[in-house]
Amino acid sequence: MHAVSPRPPLTLRMRDEDNVAIVANDGGLPAGTLLPDGVPGAGLVLRDKVPQGHKLALRDIEAGEAVLRYGVPIGHALRRIAAGSWVHERLLQLPSARALAGLPVATVKPPAAEPLTGYSFEGYRNADGSVGTRNILAITTTVQCVAGVVAQAVARIKAQLLPLYPNVDDVVGLEHSYGCGVAIDAPDAVIPIRTLRNISLNPNFGGELMVVSLGCEKLQPARLLPPGSFTITDERGADAGPETICLQDDAHVGFMSMLEHIVQSARPHLERLNARRRETVPASELVVGVQCGGSDAFSGVTANPAVGFCADLLVRAGATVLFSENTEVRDAVEQLTSRAATPEVAGAIVRELGWYDRYLERGRVDRAANTTPGNKAGGLSNIAEKAMGSIVKSGSAAISHVLSPGDKLGRAQRGLVYAATPASDFICGTLQLAAGMNLHVFTTGRGTPYGLAECPVVKVATRTELAKRWHDLMDVNAGRIADGEASIEEMGWELFRLLLDVASGRRKTWAEHWRLHNSLVLFNPAPVT
Ligand code: CA
Repeated sequence: MHAVSPRPPLTLRMRDEDNVAIVANDGGLPAGTLLPDGVPGAGLVLRDKVPQGHKLALRDIEAGEAVLRYGVPIGHALRRIAAGSWVHERLLQLPSARALAGLPVATVKPPAAEPLTGYSFEGYRNADGSVGTRNILAITTTVQCVAGVVAQAVARIKAQLLPLYPNVDDVVGLEHSYGCGVAIDAPDAVIPIRTLRNISLNPNFGGELMVVSLGCEKLQPARLLPPGSFTITDERGADAGPETICLQDDAHVGFMSMLEHIVQSARPHLERLNARRRETVPASELVVGVQCGGSDAFSGVTANPAVGFCADLLVRAGATVLFSENTEVRDAVEQLTSRAATPEVAGAIVRELGWYDRYLERGRVDRAANTTPGNKAGGLSNIAEKAMGSIVKSGSAAISHVLSPGDKLGRAQRGLVYAATPASDFICGTLQLAAGMNLHVFTTGRGTPYGLAECPVVKVATRTELAKRWHDLMDVNAGRIADGEASIEEMGWELFRLLLDVASGRRKTWAEHWRLHNSLVLFNPAPVT
């Protein structure tokens, strides 16, 4: 075994005006470390041990003075902080969130970006014009009561039928916790209901609709999928409504009869899906949902900027990028409203974030409830700092549309879209599926094995240490940016090309390889009964 010489101390500063930088070295840096020439804070001696990803003061910061990262105040010093000190969350007072009035509206015109042409992928074209990246039979459920039966039916379909239909990638039961025991006429119940409806219409399901209902539930099939909310591609015609299997039907005598009914009903759907072939489609048919989870201080330095660069490439190629996570953009609201393409879009951003402020107030919390112990251990002091690092995932394009939670993107709605969702990973992913996402990009610093059965999830690690330790879970190592081995632009292009490969089915993600599937988790702001 040969000794590996430790890397020289490395610090990273986002903007020239910042009075803090973060420590890049694995394991952090001990007190007494002299910062070498060429790094932010050169010549300073660390007064404290500073963990990896955590901040050090680049100069003396007086009590009450703003601590600047990304060029914006992420807090105010609760006491004097000497240059070279560790700047942790206990030294910072969180700034109050900017009021949602008097915001700059559509003031930033992003530099005209040249259209990116000639990029394509192999996808499944649907009857409504949308394109799937996978060819999946989804079984919609109206209520949690049927979940156990559907799970058994799905297992049987996979074992007995799926091998006969080699062009079908998977069979997925859309299980959820909604459908009964809820105040279904409450105004906010519209959110979980339209979420379920729109997920069942996701482009990865080929327009096939198959519904399993209990019979007595509040969310009746006709309420979930009213006439006109969907197009049926088969010979039954749109008036027939979606094919529904009702477990309480008198015809079902015993469990086996229910199971057999579901399994046999799957056959014609599998036959039609199996007859489909991938075809070359322009990259503009991608609908990429981006989000982060298990963030650390590197999220905003490596992975999220690379995803932001890739988002700009996607928008230039005519594709759609969905970014989300209300509590993680709230502290940067003026960046969003100023990047809105029109005053109407800025107004919609204010409407959604205002609604979310009031939703949080009802629970007597605010956006500060977002951060986790892991975020703080990873160097993110508070939600203001986390937000600045989170929002860079959206790149620099103008925001062209805003979606309310559970809403589905219209065919004409392209470009950079703000899909207003909670930041919760599983709820955000569920709502992005409802929006029509056919590919998911997920950045993580602390590490999460997150995956979805409905859509490929490309996971991007913020640090090399995580990418190495979780070598068979992370698809991309953006830690190479902090290591000085790749630029943000290079990582962005690498991710863009990987997305086209994954969309085409040429590459599988690690989550697909291991079949790591998180549950759908609905956002239900309405009461349960
Ligand atoms: Ca998240």
